[in-house]
Amino acid sequence: MDLLTIGAFARSARLTPKALRLYDQLGLLTPAAVDPESGYRLYDPGQLDKARLIARLRGIGMPLAEIREVCGLEPADAAEAVGAYRRRLTVDAADRARQATLLVDDLSRRDTAMPWSLSERRQASAREPDNDASFAIRYAARSDPGAVKETNEDAAYASDRLLAVADGTSGPGGAAASTTAIDVLKRLELLDAPAADLLTMMAAAVAEAHDGIRGGASGEEEPVTTLTAMLRSGSQLALVHVGDTRAYLLRDGELRQLTQDHTYVQSLVDTGRLDPGAVASHPQRALLARALGAGGTAVEVDLALRTAAPGDRYLLCSDGLSAIVERVALRTELAAAADPEDAVRRLVDLAHAHGAPDNIACVVADVVAA
Ligand code: MG
Repeated sequence: MDLLTIGAFARSARLTPKALRLYDQLGLLTPAAVDPESGYRLYDPGQLDKARLIARLRGIGMPLAEIREVCGLEPADAAEAVGAYRRRLTVDAADRARQATLLVDDLSRRDTAMPWSLSERRQASAREPDNDASFAIRYAARSDPGAVKETNEDAAYASDRLLAVADGTSGPGGAAASTTAIDVLKRLELLDAPAADLLTMMAAAVAEAHDGIRGGASGEEEPVTTLTAMLRSGSQLALVHVGDTRAYLLRDGELRQLTQDHTYVQSLVDTGRLDPGAVASHPQRALLARALGAGGTAVEVDLALRTAAPGDRYLLCSDGLSAIVERVALRTELAAAADPEDAVRRLVDLAHAHGAPDNIACVVADVVAA
């Protein structure tokens, strides 16, 4: 096939000749030939795909050494390498956002010498997180293997900012999956951002966990995990949920379920094909319709923003509790508990009183006036 001039090749690749000269200088894309008299670079039309790939990789800011490596890989391996790069980007962005937040705090405290105008200061404060010093969170978390299973694939985590429960499938990969799901969110605990932004970041982090868990699947094992988590910004709670782990709110003595189970049987109930009373005894009760690590490249999660109020008591728990203990009993124990620590102990004991056939993970958090 005839070689193309740099101009014709650039037009076909939708790049500029300047970019092509740069790729040549960087050793990323060497012309097929150089005219010995004019010194003009000539390209093979077969090099178009590589030129476009380089342009796209540069567009996402990948370092040159990595671009060189990716260009030498088969498409499936290249996709994996770009996926790994994307995961790093998410982490780096979260770190930089945190550093920027700290810097804003530092600069805001230097009140005398700052050249900011009043309006700039107002804009800065409008971007600050939903700080509400009148709120504090008391919390407790516990993950218990139960009375029957020898291993525990459930994970529970609680801090002043983040509450999370994840229930991984049986098998060695299940525990890693539930831990991964919570670990990606722990990075966001350090960020001070408005709750709406936290929701976006949670969605990105969960997508990353989904990728990571799918990447860890082997021929024999395809671990998946549920995840129900709340990240707090002031009085706002950003809720992310996928699977059949649940979030409940005890407010004014009333227990409300905040999440919908993503299970096969719940979809039967939703479409009127199964009586809600038949769910608990259905043989496929535990079959998940959605979970992290399951299905295709994207996972659909439920996202919501909630406003916390002093006196609220939140419960996040795996099906090791919610599937075997009646809702009335859950409410009674939650309402009777003196504090989150006591509530978690009572709920785990209650699951054991019902035989504890599955792992039990639960987090209880109280919103209190500071
Ligand atoms: Mg379970």
